[in-house]
Amino acid sequence: MSAAERVARSGCIACELSSGVRPLPGGRLHESAGWVVEHCVGPLGVGTLVVKPLRHVLHVADLDETESAALGPLLRRTAAAVTEVVRPEQVYVCLWSHAGGKPGHIHFVVQPITKADMTRFGASGPELQRAMSGTGRLPDEAAVAAVCARLRPLLAGR
Ligand SMILES: [Zn+2]
Repeated sequence: MSAAERVARSGCIACELSSGVRPLPGGRLHESAGWVVEHCVGPLGVGTLVVKPLRHVLHVADLDETESAALGPLLRRTAAAVTEVVRPEQVYVCLWSHAGGKPGHIHFVVQPITKADMTRFGASGPELQRAMSGTGRLPDEAAVAAVCARLRPLLAGR
């Protein structure tokens, strides 16, 4: 890693989670072709995963050829895994990476949405994500560990 990249990565929560500087409930779920899959640390519910490049990449346009080629299959595999484990109505796949209006380390959120989520918050789509985020309630660590134990073999293709 160059000195410039070290400076760019410092203070990046995504880099700190994937490098082990910050604790990551559930641990790393999968790694391939420059991508990692982790459980989301934010208030988006148990079973919500994050797919992000290991490199500190701020824009989708900056992904390299290997990362780009692997992205579609990995998002499909990740969505299939949460579908099998959570049995949701829909799986949202989105990327904002723009906290405070500043480009951040890109990460696709792969979020299984159940009828219970929609009923509880009386919303769907971006309104549901906003409502869930607004609670500030982080997922229970034991529940995260349990769902990750079920997701890990599916993500590995076993
Ligand atoms: Zn980063």
